[in-house]
This record gives sequence, C-alpha cells and structure tokens, in this order.
Amino acid sequence: MLTSISGRSVIVTGGSKGIGKGIARVFANQGARVLIVSRTLAEGEACAEELGNGSSAFAADVSDWDQSQAMAAEAVERHGGLDILCANAGCFPQTNIEDMDPSEWDMVMGTNLKGNFLSVKACLPALKKSDQGRVVLTSSITGPVTGFPGWSHYGASKSGQLGFMRTACIELAKFNITMNAVLPGNISTEGLDDLGEDYIKTMEASIPLKKIGVVEDIGNAALFLASKEANYITGQTIIVDGGQILPESLEALE
Ligand code: NAP
Repeated sequence: MLTSISGRSVIVTGGSKGIGKGIARVFANQGARVLIVSRTLAEGEACAEELGNGSSAFAADVSDWDQSQAMAAEAVERHGGLDILCANAGCFPQTNIEDMDPSEWDMVMGTNLKGNFLSVKACLPALKKSDQGRVVLTSSITGPVTGFPGWSHYGASKSGQLGFMRTACIELAKFNITMNAVLPGNISTEGLDDLGEDYIKTMEASIPLKKIGVVEDIGNAALFLASKEANYITGQTIIVDGGQILPESLEALE
C-alpha cells in the first residue's frame, strides 16, 4: 500500500482518453485532484464528469507554449498549486519514410517531444513549490527498445523523450523534483483500436503474457513513480509490456 496521494494536484496531458484517461482514473480514485488536458474540451469534460473526485478539464495543445503556460496556471488556480505532471499526450500516425510528408514528422515531434519540454517548462515554477514534485512521462517501447515500420518519427520522438529526461531530471533534482518515464507496450485504447483487429491479434501472439495491456496498468506504474515511496528514483524507466520485448524469436514463445 502506497502512502496516500489524496489531495495532491495533478495534471494529466492527453487525459481525455486512452492511457491518459487510465492514469487520470487511477489518481482520481486515490483522491488526487486531476486536471485533464486535451485539445477537445468536450471530451475532457465528459471524462472529468465520469471520473469525479474533483477532476476537471482544460483545453490546451501541448505543442503550443502559450497554451502550455495557460494549462499550468489553470492547475494552480483551481487546486492552489501543482504536485504532479503526467506528460502523456501523444500521437502516432503510421507512415513509411517514403510516403511521409516532412510536416508529419514535425507534427509528431511537436506533440510528443517538444510537447514534453513545454509541459515541463511551464509546470516547473509550480512544481518547485511542492514538497513532492513529480514528473512522469509516457514514452513507449517503440523507439527506446523496439522498432515498427511506419513509426520512424514516432520512435524517434519516444527515444527523444528519454534523452530529454536524463538531463532534465538532473536539472530538476536541485528542486527535489523527480522525473521518470513509463514505457508502455501495446495497451488497449481508442488509438490502438484504430490500428485494426489484425494488428491486435498479431501483437497478442507476440506477447509472453498473451494479452494487450489495460490503461490502468500504466496508471498504476505512474502512481508508484509519483508516490512518496518512489522518492529516491529519478531519471529511470519502467517497461509495462507483458514481456513483449523479451522473446529472441518466435520459437521462444512456443
Ligand atoms: P489516444 O487514445 O489517441 O489519446 C491521446 C490523448 O492525447 C487524447 O486525450 C488526445 O486528445 C490527446 N492529445 C493528442 N495530441 C495532443 C496535443 N497536441 N495537445 C494536447 N493533447 C493532445 O492515445 P493513447 O494510446 O492513449 O496514447 C497516449 C500516450 O501513450 C502517447 O504518448 C503514446 O505515445 C503512448 N503510448 C501508447 C501506447 C498504446 O498502446 N496505446 C503504447 C505505447 C505508448 P485531443 O485529440 O482532444 O487533443
């Protein structure tokens, strides 16, 4: 049992659906006050209503500096401060390099990588005032550990998040703020469902635990990294993938 996180002020970017919603749900169930951030306000509001426990929604694009600053200011305004940033918002269009318009590369980097930098920078003044400042990034196994055709930009952005983290966590340590990353494998979300039944069946077959993960699996890892008990952990990664990265070949799964 982790020390209570009740009453803590939390931002979850990309919290209106998928993994972010799972993270928001886990924190809200622990009594934290969660600001759910996404570009589509109506979806964030529906999510906040569903989760309850003082959750509320705010519309911001994490790739935009002014909107990132507004997001941080809103959390402080609504909750009286900020303790935990879960920088989770991300996108994963699947396009081979041959067919990829350079603007798609910029969009993926802008959301997944620059978005992390902007969220952290915007939240830093408020996190410095917390006695338990925490940043939890949602990266991926794709990029840091594995590859998949069509995701060169995505994989680069997800690896880039870890490069960013390994320096940022040193800069933030002097403020007693930790920064860690969760690396999900394949997790059942609206975004993943869009990739189709065949993709999901093939993935399940390649995972030692033989199932796609659920969003709360990522939420629980984020909760641990945000807890008091994770006080001395910074700049680290937790892979939550049902063992997916481990088999050396198909034979290993037989
Ligand atoms: P999802 O279901 O597509 O949800 C994405 C969330 O991010 C939505 O709330 C979306 O809301 C928000 N968002 C997207 N772009 C944004 C922007 N520029 N500014 C603010 N919010 C934005 O995706 P997901 O599968 O849950 O993925 C969430 C994170 O987990 C991503 O970082 C992804 O890389 C990572 N991940 C996912 C999986 C997986 O299996 N699903 C595996 C590994 C890693 P709006 O569109 O309204 O803004």
